Amino acid sequence: MYLKLDHPPVSLDAYRPYMDSDLADELASVAAELRGARVAHLNATAIGGGVAEILQSMVPLFNALGIATERIVIEPTEAEFFQVTKKIHNLLQGAEGSLSERELEIYHGNLRQVATAMRRDQLSADVWFMHDPQLLPLAGMLRQGQPCGGGGAAWLWICHIDLTRPNQSAIDSLLPMHRDYDHLIFSLQQYVPVKHVTDKPVYIAPPAIDPLAEKNNPMDEKGAWDIVSSMGIDSHRPLITQVSRFDLWKDPWGVIDAFRLARESVPGLQLALLGLTQASDDPEAGETLQSVMAHAGSDPDIHLFHDPGLIPVGNDQAVNALQMASSVLVQKSTREGFGLTVTEGMWKGKPMIGGNAGGIRIQIDDGQNGYLVSSPQECARRIVTLLQDNDLAAFIGAAGRASVRRRFLLPRLALDYLKVAREHAAQ
Ligand code: UDP
Repeated sequence: MYLKLDHPPVSLDAYRPYMDSDLADELASVAAELRGARVAHLNATAIGGGVAEILQSMVPLFNALGIATERIVIEPTEAEFFQVTKKIHNLLQGAEGSLSERELEIYHGNLRQVATAMRRDQLSADVWFMHDPQLLPLAGMLRQGQPCGGGGAAWLWICHIDLTRPNQSAIDSLLPMHRDYDHLIFSLQQYVPVKHVTDKPVYIAPPAIDPLAEKNNPMDEKGAWDIVSSMGIDSHRPLITQVSRFDLWKDPWGVIDAFRLARESVPGLQLALLGLTQASDDPEAGETLQSVMAHAGSDPDIHLFHDPGLIPVGNDQAVNALQMASSVLVQKSTREGFGLTVTEGMWKGKPMIGGNAGGIRIQIDDGQNGYLVSSPQECARRIVTLLQDNDLAAFIGAAGRASVRRRFLLPRLALDYLKVAREHAAQ
């Protein structure tokens, strides 16, 4: 029904090089105000995808700040639950369709079982961070009957997805459940569904990456090429990469189209698409992969990596190596809640080309620290320019890293979350 995950501890001192003194002071003081509070972060999958990535670092950081924090992952009994929640994810990001009575029953029924198990085991916390639509009904269920943590507990819903143009019927039927929460957190102001959210405090907290994670500690390029060569990529020819789950909204087909166009001007160019992580809440990935494979055909210079068993290193090293060996990185999403892969690539000082969508827009200032594109043609033009102009690529890459350092590292996000929790403690 649910699982408690242990994450290795981290020392707060390790983050000091990545915080300016104002941030470090404020973080310490807000954490001191919350000391003694027990926090729980809940989400739908232990690994795979951006939320799991954030929580595996956020939970140890909260603990290092002196706040007792647990990580809980729901484990629904029916496999169909994740088909339904993936559909909900797609609808909220704008897909057409609607939820049937049966799908809604699978969604609510599985979460009711999770809630029952949590109550039976008397899980309790003072602050509950519930991440993403998969968990949205849980607060209402846990607050009924015996509350998990007493009447004074704070219930926060954090919505990480791109709500720019949601499917209206889906948002109309699901969003009313936000009323069971005390505070709502979105990644961007423009995602706030103002029609539905009128009487709850709303906060904006864009995600962030952990500079201490193995995947974010830039590998030297020689080491990166050693790994990438052993994955079948030619070290004498240029490489571009997109790291992403195989997902409709990440537009892997558009990346292939852009690559093919760019290769007309840069003969020998190679493309890698890395989608190793199998998030348990993403049952569509297999289908998307088949379609992308068909689109790539037998092109020897398009490398699709989806099976961890065929990679000589672990996932995090593979991400790091491909990003560091590439001359240009792409994240051509058409919807994107935030896009940690964009942050990770920019942090490595590599020029990033992102789809002009959702959270990518707040990370890339077009032409300053990366490029925003809206079509494979535009993407191809930017790839060619960056491959042909090393100085420009170095300038854009350095500007990208500097902007991530200023805005999108984990301590800033920890502060954002703790400030919301403090609001509740002050009430
Ligand atoms: N990721 C990974 N291996 C892969 C593909 C993705 O580790 O093969 C990671 C990626 O590095 C990033 C996360 O999964 O940390 C994806 O987060 P993002 O916000 O970009 O997208 P999401 O998957 O949450 O939609």
